[in-house]
Amino acid sequence: MKGKRFLDEAKSFRDMKSLEKMKKEKRSVRGRTLDDWLLSPQEFKKLKKNFEEHVQQLVNGGLRYGRIIEVQKRNVFLAEEDEKGMPITENLWLCSIAKRHFQRAHKERNFVVVGDRVLFAPDTGIEFDDDGEPTNTDLPRGVVQHAFARTSQISRQDPLNAAWDHVMLANIDLVVIVASVLHPEVRFGLLDRFLVQSEQEELPAVIVLNKVDLLQNPKLATPAFLQNYHNRIKIYRDIGYEVLEICALKPKTTKEAITRLRQIFKGKIVGFAGHSGVGKSSIVNLMKPEFEQIVDEDPAIFYKGRHTTTYNSLLHLGIGAYAIDTPGVRSFHMKGIGPQELSACFREFRPFACMYRECAHDKEEGCAIKKAVQEGQISRERYRSYLGILKGISFREGEGDDTDALMIADLKAREQVRDNNNKE
Ligand code: GDP
Ligand code: ZN
Repeated sequence: MKGKRFLDEAKSFRDMKSLEKMKKEKRSVRGRTLDDWLLSPQEFKKLKKNFEEHVQQLVNGGLRYGRIIEVQKRNVFLAEEDEKGMPITENLWLCSIAKRHFQRAHKERNFVVVGDRVLFAPDTGIEFDDDGEPTNTDLPRGVVQHAFARTSQISRQDPLNAAWDHVMLANIDLVVIVASVLHPEVRFGLLDRFLVQSEQEELPAVIVLNKVDLLQNPKLATPAFLQNYHNRIKIYRDIGYEVLEICALKPKTTKEAITRLRQIFKGKIVGFAGHSGVGKSSIVNLMKPEFEQIVDEDPAIFYKGRHTTTYNSLLHLGIGAYAIDTPGVRSFHMKGIGPQELSACFREFRPFACMYRECAHDKEEGCAIKKAVQEGQISRERYRSYLGILKGISFREGEGDDTDALMIADLKAREQVRDNNNKE
């Protein structure tokens, strides 16, 4: 037994190590620090050494620290930051992005995303909205000049351009993955993709299942449905994720879970991830009354010039927390991820020592992960999710509870194509 444990640890250590290495590489690709935005290579080299000093010089020269609150096509809303780096939502600015950033080749859909930390120059007289019309707002203006490297991000492959990342959230402390038990049903495929991202980024994740009131309706929730629901939820609890079942409409009926949620949010920058219509806004609203009691702030100022919630928005919650609401995510295609990194992101795979170094845990004979699935130590559903992500299958809108079935069908179709190609 002891020997097996040692093996387990060795295996997870190896996984963690390769994960570390890949993360480092990724960070250096992503490592968009303040400097490489506009400096010559010589200046860049010099700056590396004196980063802090350089930033201080920029600040002395009149630039200010800000955090992106909302991103629109051409403009962003940002809040100044206090000395601890928390956004001060009453000090809102409407800013454009310095033009030179649009002229460079880029790997991401947007230059800055909600949660990004930037340096901006106040008052340069940019006064046009998305349609090129002069804007009509009382907010002070500025131009975003530089962005800092991110500590964390949640992203997908941009559905508009496969070569780009669509980063949805940046610099968060916690991901809250929200789904509803019914209307719409939980998309486990999407849930697993968000979980993989949080593991990759080493961000704690909490799963919130909303609308549990609908489980009381026998027409909607048949015994078979309920049984499946409870089985699926148990899988996540068993592997150590916190799952909170709540009713945002009648919060008193799930008081304990909501109190727990408040407790978890406290003092954190919280990223809400989830499909539209699952109740993210309702949950954010739930947290508000407390906030209005403790903070003297005119909400009208915050909402001035706001678009609909289709844009990401960083909302000021009660209890000193902030939340970032992702837009409704209709599809979620993860960028290519190899079997080693991916299996390390499935936390329940880690204890199983697979004898093959480069094993994809797919068709290989004698694979320990596959064996664990057969023996019921790893759930079939999660294993299928793993295969789906590995083979680059997108999560797509409209799959309902048949995500897995569709994934398998998609998988088979691809394999068929591949086999046919090999024959030729
Ligand atoms: P978002 O798109 O994720 O921000 O979702 P919303 O907060 O806008 O909620 C979508 C819909 O679900 C609205 O019609 C809400 O009234 C409804 N809803 C939210 N929470 C609950 C709940 O606990 N139970 C039920 N039955 N409906 C809810
Ligand atoms: Zn294997």
